[in-house]
Amino acid sequence: MKIIRLKPGKEKSLLRRHPWVFDGAIAKGGGDPGETVRVESHDGAFLAWGAFSPQSRIRVRVWSFEQTQRIDAPFLASLVKRAVELRANWNLPSDGVRLVHGESDGLPGLVVDRYGDTLVAQFTSCGTERWKAVLADALLEATGLQRLYERSDASARGLEGLPEVTGWLRGGGETALTIQEHGWRLGLDVAQGHKTGYYLDQRDSRRDCADWVRRLGLREVLNCFSYTGGFSVAALAGGAEHVTSIDSSGPALAQAAANLALNGFDAARATFLDADVNASLRRFLEEGRRFDAIVLDPPKLAPTAAHAERAARAYKDINRLALKILEPGGVLFTYSCSGGISADLFHKIVASAGIDARVDGAILQRLGGAPDHPMTLAFPEGEYLKGLVVMRTPVA
Ligand code: SAH
Repeated sequence: MKIIRLKPGKEKSLLRRHPWVFDGAIAKGGGDPGETVRVESHDGAFLAWGAFSPQSRIRVRVWSFEQTQRIDAPFLASLVKRAVELRANWNLPSDGVRLVHGESDGLPGLVVDRYGDTLVAQFTSCGTERWKAVLADALLEATGLQRLYERSDASARGLEGLPEVTGWLRGGGETALTIQEHGWRLGLDVAQGHKTGYYLDQRDSRRDCADWVRRLGLREVLNCFSYTGGFSVAALAGGAEHVTSIDSSGPALAQAAANLALNGFDAARATFLDADVNASLRRFLEEGRRFDAIVLDPPKLAPTAAHAERAARAYKDINRLALKILEPGGVLFTYSCSGGISADLFHKIVASAGIDARVDGAILQRLGGAPDHPMTLAFPEGEYLKGLVVMRTPVA
């Protein structure tokens, strides 16, 4: 058994059941990639069992804080079963569900999404890489499903010194499939799509968008960073007359067009722009184009707090432009999925965008990720997605 001895005082976060040990906290000890190690305080007291990552700044990810717990296949299978069962009676309004959300489910370095009868997994740490076969079998067992596609092509793999791997891990067949979300049909491709294929974390925000469009009778909608058109479908389902979807990915826009058709929306109600959002917003401003609702759901601009300052400027810029081309009484649906930008900071960024745009706004709603992407009490880093629904207040 390999032992990791921490420096004095570095046991504090583990005592609060936070599941990471950073390289700088370690006095001595090591292990092979993914090997289970015993983490001790400077005086030899047991703290946790974890998986060792020789190359990552996060050197150990905790499997258990119980000294008597054996880290073996039955234990890991029990964690998978617990994550799946936790969500079983939540009645999520979709057959696309995040079943395992890494640290929040006690499985650091594992993300698993279920799309209908297909599971898609990302193994992003040495620990989950080492136990991949056990975890894959446990996932099939816990769900009763037979197909598992691996999308271990996340950038986090590089930090662990792991190569990118994609392909069927269990079962096989078509990678293009359709899910039902709030009664809408959405096509996606688990091999070609971003992340595991779709952004399940914005599920509730898409429903809220449809609701506000319906309640306020919003007609002309601009969906920026549309990806496969989830918010575009939502806006049309809410009764919008027309939606313009902008994304810099051609395949994503092609899927968006297919998704609108799949839900029976007339092609005349949609425009697709394969373009940069920032440039498009500037052009709309110059042309005097105005919208009743604008969705801004950019990619992660600040993965960590170190990127926050530059990202804050980028967020402010697009929010300022969007507020300017919003009709008075129109609604901005604005999001940040950056772990490095807190909900509080995001609020301040949007507020200063409003000041620069010389418009005021009423906050109709504050949003987070869908509940199957939980944040736990012990792991606040689990919070990454936040959103604001802001009505541009009419000038008195
Ligand atoms: N709102 C989407 C998810 C958006 S993900 C949903 O509900 O599913 C972010 C999207 O932004 C990706 O599809 C990516 O292709 C696109 N993107 C990234 N940078 C961009 C840019 N500068 N201009 C336009 N689109 C961009």
